[in-house]
Amino acid sequence: MDPALNFCSVCAAPVVQRIPAGDSLPRGICEACGTVHYRNPRLVVGALAQWQGKVLMCKRAIEPRYGKWTLPAGFMENGESVEEGAIRETLEEACARIELGPLFAMISVPHIHQVHVIYRARLLDLDFAAGEESLEVRLFDEADIPWGEIAFRTIKRSLKHYFSDRKVGVFGIHTESLSLPPSDTLPPALRKASDDASPPDSHA
Ligand SMILES: [Zn+2]
Repeated sequence: MDPALNFCSVCAAPVVQRIPAGDSLPRGICEACGTVHYRNPRLVVGALAQWQGKVLMCKRAIEPRYGKWTLPAGFMENGESVEEGAIRETLEEACARIELGPLFAMISVPHIHQVHVIYRARLLDLDFAAGEESLEVRLFDEADIPWGEIAFRTIKRSLKHYFSDRKVGVFGIHTESLSLPPSDTLPPALRKASDDASPPDSHA
């Protein structure tokens, strides 16, 4: 998931793992140029966009989870805000224009070093289409959500929160943390399927 860094990205000298003075964790340190290579969690940002009660979803055209359904979401880019990232990912994956609403879910996934952040949103028109990373994009009524075919656990959690909040008419902000599923308790055929908090796109 997160292979050790072997060479310095500044000067290409070998990197050693050690705890810098004043720090508490081992870091990749280049002893040639002194660069400390910090590695920190990454943000995945996305939107739960609705149109007349239906939710916009994308069928993935890339691994991991090719062919499974997800909300438009992906890694935040340098130089953009979280909100801009959610709007951009929705445009890229679903060719859809949205008006972003409030923050809805912020889910830590510590074992893959990610935080997934989902906003509520309103779809502005019906001119959506499958982007490069999607096979298909469509609107789902709650009754038609393909629960058994959702790509990622964070997305399933966000959708569950959404429909349960909608029932009571009050939308909250849901923060939680997902732990590693106990895959050693599952038969081998199910282990892969249970690891549903994988990176939502390929440049992980
Ligand atoms: Zn260096």
